[in-house]
Amino acid sequence: MHVASPKTSAADPRDPAVPAGPDPARMPCPNIDAAALSSHLPATAMPETKAPPAECDVLIVGGGPAGATLAALLARRGRDVTLVEKSRHPRFHIGESLLPANVPLLQDLGLADDVARIGMRKLGVEFVSPNHEAPSVVEFREAWNRSMPFAWHVRRSEFDELLFRHAGRLGARAIEGWRVERVDFDAAGALARVVGDNGSTQACRARYVVDASGRDTLLAGQLGTKRRNRRHNSAALYAHFTGARRLPEAREGHISILWFPHGWFWFIPLADGTTSVGAVCWPRYLKSRTKPLPEFFRDTVALCPALHDRLKDAELVEGRIHATGNYAYASSRCTGPRWAMIGDAYAFIDPVFSSGVFLAMKSAYAAVDLVETTLDRPREAARARRRFEALAQHGPRQFSWFIYRVTNPTMREFFMTPGNPMRLKEALLSLLAGDIYGDTPIWPTLKLMKVLYYLVSALHPGRTWRAWRRRRADIRDVGVIAP
Ligand SMILES: Cc1cc2nc3c(=O)[nH]c(=O)nc-3n(C[C@H](O)[C@H](O)[C@H](O)COP(=O)(O)OP(=O)(O)OC[C@H]3O[C@@H](n4cnc5c(N)ncnc54)[C@H](O)[C@@H]3O)c2cc1C
Repeated sequence: MHVASPKTSAADPRDPAVPAGPDPARMPCPNIDAAALSSHLPATAMPETKAPPAECDVLIVGGGPAGATLAALLARRGRDVTLVEKSRHPRFHIGESLLPANVPLLQDLGLADDVARIGMRKLGVEFVSPNHEAPSVVEFREAWNRSMPFAWHVRRSEFDELLFRHAGRLGARAIEGWRVERVDFDAAGALARVVGDNGSTQACRARYVVDASGRDTLLAGQLGTKRRNRRHNSAALYAHFTGARRLPEAREGHISILWFPHGWFWFIPLADGTTSVGAVCWPRYLKSRTKPLPEFFRDTVALCPALHDRLKDAELVEGRIHATGNYAYASSRCTGPRWAMIGDAYAFIDPVFSSGVFLAMKSAYAAVDLVETTLDRPREAARARRRFEALAQHGPRQFSWFIYRVTNPTMREFFMTPGNPMRLKEALLSLLAGDIYGDTPIWPTLKLMKVLYYLVSALHPGRTWRAWRRRRADIRDVGVIAP
């Protein structure tokens, strides 16, 4: 792996786990194309965009997958909707691997062909463990529901722009370069203060506000409802490579998940030949860093011989390593009388199962009913809120049970030797595909898997105890990590 003399590494400024580096929003980023560089120009050079209106029915904060999906759906139904994005598309974002359950949503939005054009077809998952001789490979066509056999890996700059522009084409006011600074609520709705990247400010009155601001968690921050998940704690270092050795042809698009002593790696092949590689590590490990990020990343890769081998002849794109804390969190509330939170603005879970974009889009779909019921039939709003909350909590909860245990040796065994008695493998694959809503029949089988997990754990008390102790130490909050 060639790590040429590093450029600056981009750290997420909201993240207490990584040193606050230069503001990434002001730095040229190699992973976005020339047009995207406009978002890194100083404010004075910003192209003008239209300002948010003084009034609208629905104001959506944040033009990522959650916000843009909801804006498209509401606009399609003739709603007066304003979508406000603080940066300008295309802009860099991590989270490149979609789930098969994304595909029907993209088909419904009329975007599946466009995504197929920019995406790398993803047919399955490869798990690589240091304790097993051979990798384990599973394919989505083996899932319980065979109608969702593939997904895509995408460059999020391209994918998010597609969604955002689509919302605009369907009639949403899609506004870029404006940041919602604060939202205040009263009996009639909400008043938002919006600040343009040219320095001007605008007040926007809305009958309903949806927070889709991602990990900025605008409303949860403002309302004090954001809670760190005490059961999970991790942060990610990631980069893009050219020349990484991929799996042979038919499996080229598989995502690889590789365990190593301090967490796990993703290996995501993108359509343009670039490969996205990320290490999701425990805070305790990151705290041990004494070297600059590029060297630390290289040393971390060396701890995973299988990955190290695949990156032997690879070149780091522009010498840049990114860092993002992905400490899991959720807001204690996701709706109020005139507001809702969707996507990461409500909850964030570890990305090991690539569930983030799907959960974001799914919560946008669920929010349509909530917004419309509140606006049109306010007496039914309380029930609509309960329906929405149940759906918003369902996804993170189902994935989290597996996420908390994914580095446990018993669970790893399930992933490395996935047998199919009583359709266990099919049920697990359906979960990995995101087929977790509606009338999916997988729940009794997954319950059985959980019982088996506890049984096997009980049969190996020493191993279980050591794994439990180690995890407890690994996920302990170590506070701000020194630069
Ligand atoms: C290291 C890492 C790896 C990941 N890997 C995957 C993966 O492989 N697959 C996957 O599906 N998910 C992955 N995720 C998760 C995924 O990135 C998110 O779940 C997903 O982007 C959520 O979409 P969203 O629309 O809710 O938020 P975002 O995509 O973050 O969009 C929020 C938008 O709101 C804008 N915004 C923020 N504040 C304001 C404001 N005040 N005013 C106006 N605009 C604002 C932001 O600029 C942004 O464009 C990963 C996450 C991390 C951290």
